[in-house]
Amino acid sequence: MNDNGMTEHRDVLIVGAGLSGIGAAHHLQDAFPGKSYTILEARDAIGGTWDLFRYPGVRSDSDMYTLGYRFRPWTEAKAIADGPSILDYVRATAAEAGIDKHIRFGHRVTRAAWSGEDARWTVEATGPGGTVTLTCGFLLLCSGYYRYDQGYQAELPGIGNFGGQVVHPQFWPQDLDYAGKRVVVIGSGATAVTLVPAMAGSAAHVTMLQRSPTYILAMPAEDGLANGLRKLLGPRRGYTATRWKNVAVTTLIYRLSRRKPDMIRGWIRKMAIKQLPAGYDVDTHFKPTYNPWDQRLCLVPDGDLFKAISEGRASVATGRIATFTEHGIQLESGAELEADIVVTATGLQLLAMGGIELAVDGEPVRLPEHMAYKGMMLSGVPNFAFTIGYTNASWTLKADLVSEFTCRLLKYMDARGYDTCVPVNDDPTVTEQPLLDFQAGYVLRVIDQFPKAGSRAPWRLAQNYARDVFTLRRGKIDDGSMRFSTSVRRVAGREPDPVR
Ligand SMILES: Cc1cc2nc3c(=O)[nH]c(=O)nc-3n(C[C@H](O)[C@H](O)[C@H](O)COP(=O)(O)OP(=O)(O)OC[C@H]3O[C@@H](n4cnc5c(N)ncnc54)[C@H](O)[C@@H]3O)c2cc1C
Repeated sequence: MNDNGMTEHRDVLIVGAGLSGIGAAHHLQDAFPGKSYTILEARDAIGGTWDLFRYPGVRSDSDMYTLGYRFRPWTEAKAIADGPSILDYVRATAAEAGIDKHIRFGHRVTRAAWSGEDARWTVEATGPGGTVTLTCGFLLLCSGYYRYDQGYQAELPGIGNFGGQVVHPQFWPQDLDYAGKRVVVIGSGATAVTLVPAMAGSAAHVTMLQRSPTYILAMPAEDGLANGLRKLLGPRRGYTATRWKNVAVTTLIYRLSRRKPDMIRGWIRKMAIKQLPAGYDVDTHFKPTYNPWDQRLCLVPDGDLFKAISEGRASVATGRIATFTEHGIQLESGAELEADIVVTATGLQLLAMGGIELAVDGEPVRLPEHMAYKGMMLSGVPNFAFTIGYTNASWTLKADLVSEFTCRLLKYMDARGYDTCVPVNDDPTVTEQPLLDFQAGYVLRVIDQFPKAGSRAPWRLAQNYARDVFTLRRGKIDDGSMRFSTSVRRVAGREPDPVR
């Protein structure tokens, strides 16, 4: 409600002012200068992930030519960028396009209820002054995929014995002084492989303690070809060319990983051997039991992790924790790792749809009972889209397409006088599949709380950018599964509240 006691109405409400939410607002105001929109953001800052994570060395683990927006070239020399540069990029995008004026900070959306009669969502958010209610014609979630208030904490037996400091990367104490200290980083994912070389610069020693190895691939932090193309073709055309080059390379590596896993496994192993000291036990520490891309592959810029190991500043221990002791960690093998600081880089807690309770015409939406349409809408849930990026390529490639498809959908409805669209799956031969076809522990722990995907288009999640460009940017809007209608309110000529 506003001060006059009237419920504020927006054509579109966006939830989240991270990389995706700012991008979505940009697409929206470009396509529809006349549409009203607001971004509701739970935190007090723009940037989401890139504002939250402040651990040493925080950086992207995919290249910025594909993690950057399609509409805004990434012009810095580094392809693998540090967190603060990514945050600047998102903030600058918002400021230059005046998007920041549309953000309501400190508002966590808790509920959204759809009324078919009125063709609008009633959205409740908790703000500094209590609960705020707005209505909107279309609800676009850009709320990321994990909890902000809690990270995933693996079981740490005997942690009470430990006399040192325990830190989770999601809540990094800015005054943590690790110079000259012995550090153990628990984990082997993107965060652990970033932290180890970054801390090894000033720590006495950093040990990466992993239960099992991950595929780790070194790549140059700067992409010489991209920098050359930018000089030759100019920032915009150079960016587009590099973006497609990188899409092609990552798609090729992904495809080969699925079709010829032994070949890629051998290639990654050879690359690791080349960068590690002679005689290093590569097979214990860098040879996973699963196939490449069963879980996300970790990139290390300029092989910084391998360099830190080769220089003796860092090491890897592979094994299970028996117990924490006063001075460190004892492994089941009997080995003991002494530590002043332990960093639990054990991952994120996934969260579907920003934890928002959804209802359609009074019926609660139970996510596992709904199927994702084109990986961005839900069967039976009208005028609603969500943004989840690719698991095998940069997030923003998909986020841009979700925004573009939403704009096309709105244009299609405006042109025909519809105010309601809803994906419907009435094909009994479409069978259910998990939304994320990914074997990582943090996915498997919660996947049953997520919507399903289907066995066939438009319900199948191909995780393939080139194919999605075809269907989301160019494909038919009226594809038979998307149903359109006009609400009772519009037929009766009742217009939305004038408050904008
Ligand atoms: C450390 C780290 C590194 C990563 N590196 C890469 C990478 O290199 N490449 C890549 O492709 N992906 C990477 N990812 C994934 C990354 O999260 C995405 O690339 C991208 O930043 C997601 O942007 P987003 O805006 O969709 O979500 P987020 O960045 O998570 O932003 C979501 C925003 O929505 C807000 N929000 C959530 N729920 C609500 C609610 N109910 N009400 C109001 N506001 C809400 C949050 O406060 C937040 O500001 C990384 C993730 C992490 C954690």
